[in-house]
Amino acid sequence: MGLLPPLRGIYRSDLQDPAGRVWERAERSPHYRRLRADAVLLSHAHMDHIGYISFLDTDIPIISTMMTAYLGKAIQDCGAHQFEGEMSYATPKIADKDGNLGAGRPKGFPFMRRPYLLADTLPDDSGEFWNLSPASTKGRHFPKKRLKVVDRAGNLPVRYFPVDHSIYGSAAIAIETSAGWVVYTGDLRRHGKNRASTDAFVQAAKALNPIALICEGTNIDRGPGATEEDAFASCLQAVQAAEGEFVVADFGPRNVERLLAFLEIARRTGRRLVISDKDAYVLTAMSAVDPGIPTPASDRTMVVYRRALLKPDNWVKQVREWYRVQVSAADVGSHPGEYIVCFSFFDIAELVDIDPRRGCWIYSSSEPHDEEQLFELERLKHWLTHFNLEPIGLTEGPSRYHSSGHISGTEMQTLIREISPRVVIPVHTVHPERFVELVGKEIPVRLPEIGVQLPL
Ligand SMILES: [Zn+2]
Repeated sequence: MGLLPPLRGIYRSDLQDPAGRVWERAERSPHYRRLRADAVLLSHAHMDHIGYISFLDTDIPIISTMMTAYLGKAIQDCGAHQFEGEMSYATPKIADKDGNLGAGRPKGFPFMRRPYLLADTLPDDSGEFWNLSPASTKGRHFPKKRLKVVDRAGNLPVRYFPVDHSIYGSAAIAIETSAGWVVYTGDLRRHGKNRASTDAFVQAAKALNPIALICEGTNIDRGPGATEEDAFASCLQAVQAAEGEFVVADFGPRNVERLLAFLEIARRTGRRLVISDKDAYVLTAMSAVDPGIPTPASDRTMVVYRRALLKPDNWVKQVREWYRVQVSAADVGSHPGEYIVCFSFFDIAELVDIDPRRGCWIYSSSEPHDEEQLFELERLKHWLTHFNLEPIGLTEGPSRYHSSGHISGTEMQTLIREISPRVVIPVHTVHPERFVELVGKEIPVRLPEIGVQLPL
C-alpha cells in the first residue's frame, strides 16, 4: 500500500518477499532511494515512536535512554506476538518452497536481538531483566546481550536530555552535524511532575545554538489544559465521593506517572490499587532501571489482578511467580470499597465476573482522537450503564481528570523562542501551519513534505 517509505537498505531482509517483487514496485515510486542507517535515535517508548522499529534491519543500532530500552523489551515481552511488535527482538522468518514466509523453527532459529545502545548510563540490573527470555525453557533460544553506553551515532556526537512526558525515560535528542547541532524535542510537556527536566533541556538546547529544531506539535492548536496536580485533585475527590463502592481508574497504558498518582489516592482513601499483570510486568522492568519505582513486592498498597485464563502466557506465569498474592474478580466483587481497580476498555468483560452493584469509572485518559476511539467510548458508556457505574471524565473533549502528555501551542511558542534555533521543522502534528502563525515572523518554519529532503 506504499505505507512504508521506499528506502532500500534499512529494512529486515527476512520480511521481504523472496521473489523481490516488493522492490520492483518500490522502485517505481518517485521517492525511492537507497539508504544506509548507522543508528536510530529513539526518543521514548510510546508505540507511535518505537513501534515501526519492527520493520528495520535487526543489525541497525537503536540509541535510547536505558528506561526506554527496558520499557521496549517489557512491552514486547507481554504484547501479542506479531511482527509489528518486534521493537526489541525479532522472530526470524523463513520462506517455504512456495515462497510463503513463516517463523523459522524454534530449533536452529534463535531470536534476533536488536543492538540497543544507551545514551545515559548502564542499569544496575541484578535481576538481569534485559536477558530474561520471553520464551519458555524449551522454546526459542534468547541469546544474551550486553548493553553499552555511547555518545556517538555513527561518527556524529549525540546527546540525550530527559524531558517531561507521559511515559518514563522520554528524552529530547541533539546531534552534531558538520553544519551544527540539530535538536529534536521528542514528545514533551511542561505541566507534569518532571517539568524541571524539560526546563533543563531548553537551557541546554539553547546553549548548543542549534541550526534546526525538529518540533513535536500534537497539541499545537490547544491552549494549556489540566496539570498533573489538577488531575490528581479531581481523581482524589471522585474516589473520596465513592466511599464503600466499586471504583475503576482508567488511564493510558504505561502511563506510570498516573498509576503512581492513583497509588497515592489509594493510600489516602484506605484502599489498595489493583493493577493488571501487564502493569506488574512493566513496573518490574522499570524498577530494574530505577529502584525508586514501586512494585507489588515493595509496596503492599499495590496488588495484582488475577485474570481467569485457561492458558496463561509465559510472562503471566512469570508475574504469578513474582507476586503470589493476587486478587480475583470474586475478591473485588465481595469487597468493592477496599480497592481501586486499574482497568481500561479492553478489560471491560471482567465486569461480568466482578458483578458490581454500583460505583464509578474514572476516565483519566486522553479524549478520542479518531472515529474508532469515538465508537470505543460509546461502547464503554453502554457497558457502564448496564452495570450501574457512573462515568466520570468520559467526555469527547479535554477533562479535568486527565493531564495531557503534550505541551500546548502557547507554551511551545515560548519554548521555541527560548531555544532560538535558526529554523523550526514541525513533525508529529496535524496542524504544522500553526507553527508558522506562532513563530513564523521571528524564525523560519520549514514544513516537511513526503520524500523531499531538507538540506540544512
Ligand atoms: Zn509520546
